Parts: sequence; structure tokens; C-alpha cells
Amino acid sequence: MKLPISIGILNETTENERRVAMAPDEAKRLTSRQMQVMVQAGAGLGAGFQDQDYVTAGCKVESNRGDVISGANLIVMLGRPDTGDINGIKENSTIIGQIFPLRYPSLVEEMARKKLRVYSLELLPRTTRAQSMDVLSSQSAVAGYRAAIIGAYNLPRLMPMLTTAAGTIKPANVLVIGAGVAGLMAIATAKRLGAAVTAYDVRKAAGDDVRSLGAKFLELGVNAEGAGGYARELTEEERMKEKEMLEAAVISSDLIITTAGVPGKKAPVVVSEDTISKMRPGSIIVDAMAESGGNCALTQQGKTVEHNGVKIIGSVNPQSEAPINASQMYSRNVFSFLSILIDKEGNFIDPSKDELLSACMICSDGNVTFPQPKKEGERK
Ligand code: NAD
Repeated sequence: MKLPISIGILNETTENERRVAMAPDEAKRLTSRQMQVMVQAGAGLGAGFQDQDYVTAGCKVESNRGDVISGANLIVMLGRPDTGDINGIKENSTIIGQIFPLRYPSLVEEMARKKLRVYSLELLPRTTRAQSMDVLSSQSAVAGYRAAIIGAYNLPRLMPMLTTAAGTIKPANVLVIGAGVAGLMAIATAKRLGAAVTAYDVRKAAGDDVRSLGAKFLELGVNAEGAGGYARELTEEERMKEKEMLEAAVISSDLIITTAGVPGKKAPVVVSEDTISKMRPGSIIVDAMAESGGNCALTQQGKTVEHNGVKIIGSVNPQSEAPINASQMYSRNVFSFLSILIDKEGNFIDPSKDELLSACMICSDGNVTFPQPKKEGERK
């Protein structure tokens, strides 16, 4: 007899992580489809979901993490399991998370040795069909919003223009570097707070998105659109040109939010130490790419450093600072992914039969299957 799918939701163990991979609403949609859902007690608390909410959704709440791990055959996470978790997971179980296999190759080997089938959602291609499962977009949108809020909070001046009896206050000048998903959300948020916003991206096509939000787009004469609408790495010559052309805009800004990324690469350094030295004291840089190496030469991951009165905030996991909505969005992404992973009879679908499953599967049947031969425009 076929065993029913039993889904395990764990308390995320990464430092300062407050999100949970599955919110009670999506858990309820799964239990109403006759799937078992087990939740580690307290897993949702950081995101405002109580154990009782999961019980009401038809889940079983287990106080012991090990019981969830050993009882489930499908574990859904935001991040990745650690070695202790992997030891306790049943052979041939399925794991869904954001594994970043290039950063954690030995963990991938461990999971392969345990014959786990692992799907790493950040590797999903950014196609129309995958849009509802696009965890990079949902979490980047939250990160961009938070980056603007962190910037506004730390700025020693107001964001909007004010006309008062005490005179007129000019709006803060905000520069957003990188106008992808996070950058556009940072632009929209800074605009709503009343700042005068300028943005720059190496993809010329991003100009239309920026202007549609009412911000000014800097045309610096570099157009580095690569495959699939992503940026490519700049040549040394282009990098020097970018630095030179961007410097005036950086120096005249009160708040700079950096979100520039190139798929599969370390974040490009777009603000040099030399440029920071020319900035006005009291200016702020929020580096939303700190975890990928940082867009600013002085960024320290998870720290705020000060250089000649300029604060550089190395923002880490800003998504976790809005854990309620970030968890709800991730949870909907996962639910959508489950709808292509599990058929109506409750069977796991063969990953070779679905291009999205095979694109984000990193190990199965004892073999590491990542990296796979990439098609044009797919993420690493
Ligand atoms: P990302 O996180 O890889 O990069 C963020 C931005 O940084 C990009 O816009 C990139 O052009 C820019 N950048 C790279 N190097 C730079 C540099 N040296 N200076 C300035 N800017 C630099 O990208 P992302 O936000 O995940 O997505 C980017 C692209 O993917 C966009 O075209 C977006 O519209 C597209 N996208 C498509 C879908 C979909 O079709 N389903 C979903 C999400 C994103």
C-alpha cells in the first residue's frame, strides 16, 4: 500500500531567521487534500503563527524536532537542513528549500548519500509558468521594501519635502543601484516616503520600469543585458566607466540603496572606498547585497560600519524583518510548487517529466544532479 505524503515543517535554525516555510492557510489547503502536515512546535511563532493556528488548520504539532524529521517523507524549509537533520531524515525522502548548492557543496553530497531528492527553489527558471513559485522574486520584493525602510530609519534627515512655518525642507535624495525586483521595490517605497529617487541599472531596459515608478533613470552609457534579461558581468573597462559616471550621483545622494546582482556571481562592487570618502557625512548606504559579497567596497555582512561619517549598513536577511508577509508569500510559492510536484492521486511526479522540477532538483537517487547543463537565460 502506498504511504500518504506526510509533510514536515521545521523551525528554521539560521541565526535571526523569523520566517517559516508554511503558513497555516496553505497548511490547511494541504490537509484538506488529505495530506498529513506535521509542524515542529513554535515553528511559526517568529512569523506570528501560533501552534494552535496549525492545529486548527488540521496539522499535528510535535514538540520534538526529531519526530517531525523522522515522521515526514517531504520536508519543506526556507533554508536547508543541517547534518544532524540529514542523519534523522528517512532515506528517499523529498526536501524542498533554498539550498544554494554552490555555497554548500558538501551538504549536497551528504543529502545525496542519504538518497534524498532535493529541490532548491532559488534555481527555478524565471519563466511565466514558474512565476507563482518564484521565491527569489517574492523574497526580494520584501528585501527591497525593508532596505528602503532601514535607510529611512537611519537617515539623519526627513525623506519627504515639507513646507512648514519654519521653512521648506527639501526631500532626501535617494539613489537606488540595481533596478531588478528588490531595487524596484526599494524605489517604490522611497517614493512613497516622499524622497526624490534616482536609479541606475546596467540593463538599459530597466529604465522603463524605473520611470514607470516616477523615479529618474541614470543613463550612463553602459548596457550589459545578458542572457534571459539578466545582467552580465561588466568588463574591466565598463566597470571603470560605471565607477566614474556613477560617482557624481553617489556623492550627491543622502541615501544609497544597492541591490545589484549578476546570477551565479559574487555581487559587483559599484561603490568604491574612494567614492565613499567623497560623500557627505550623515549619508547612508544600505547594501542589500551584503550576503553575496556586497556592492560597496566597505560593506561588512551583518554590520554597520562608519567611514568619515558615512554609515554603510551590510543588511543581512532583510526579508526576515517582515516575517509575516515574507512567510505568507514563500508559503504560497511552495504551495504552487507542490501542485506540480504531487499529482491528484497524491503521488510524487517523476522530475524528468517536468522541466521546472528537473531545473531545480539538485540530488536524487544517490546522485548530485546539479549543476545541470544550462539553457540560455537560466539561473546558476
Ligand atoms: P538580480 O538580483 O540578479 O540583480 C538585480 C539587478 O542588478 C538587475 O536588474 C541587474 O541588471 C542589476 N545589476 C547587475 N550588475 C549591475 C551593476 N554593475 N550596476 C548596476 N546594476 C547592476 O536580478 P533580479 O532582481 O532577480 O531580476 C532581474 C531580471 O529578471 C529583471 O529583468 C527582471 O524583470 C527579471 N525577472 C523576470 C521574472 C519573470 O519573468 N518571471 C521574474 C523576476 C525577475
